[in-house]
Amino acid sequence: MFPNLPTNDDEEVLIEPERGEELVTISLLKQYIYCPRVVYYETCTPGVRPRTYKMQAGSEAHDRERERAARRTLTAYQIPEGERYFDVRLLSPRLKLSGLIDEVVLTPDEAIVVDYKLAGWTGANHLIQLGAYSLMVEEAFNLPVHRGFIYLLKPRRFESVSIDEPLRNSVLETLQSIDRIRLYEYMPPPVDQPNKCASCEFRRFCNDI
Ligand code: SF4
Repeated sequence: MFPNLPTNDDEEVLIEPERGEELVTISLLKQYIYCPRVVYYETCTPGVRPRTYKMQAGSEAHDRERERAARRTLTAYQIPEGERYFDVRLLSPRLKLSGLIDEVVLTPDEAIVVDYKLAGWTGANHLIQLGAYSLMVEEAFNLPVHRGFIYLLKPRRFESVSIDEPLRNSVLETLQSIDRIRLYEYMPPPVDQPNKCASCEFRRFCNDI
């Protein structure tokens, strides 16, 4: 699917970016899960994405729920005490990532990441984002992250997520794939689930579907 990439002696992909070490936002990971080609449009043709009504409505619902969450107790996270921080912006030069995290809970032994989603169920795109947030939080706060929560705004329900090894590996592999696209301006093939194209903002750019 992707062109061959340079590797080092440990068989790791070794990319020396032509455009410098610019950070990518975590939202690119969930877009990659939706369709890798969206990452191409976002990074190689910046500024073309239209802001839809759906995105605006989602943002407002998200803000309202965040205010409610601030009044909620820690019982939902199954911990007796902890410090809650909202809208935590992190940069990771190691992962070349930046992200704005809805909520981080710090306890003496662990950190917990909470993400609010305007959705009725947890999807792979939500999981990868939570996994990436967790890696960034571990780096920033020097605390392990074993679990996180996705709060589904529609059913108003918390889903507990284990931040396990497969999820961590999946984050790192996805970041490598994103680098391949943005640094080599590689356009991936169209997604193999045509129903996704029907509601995609980039539909008019894809002439091969
Ligand atoms: S229209 Fe389809 S193939 Fe093109 S970017 Fe959107 S989801 Fe991907």
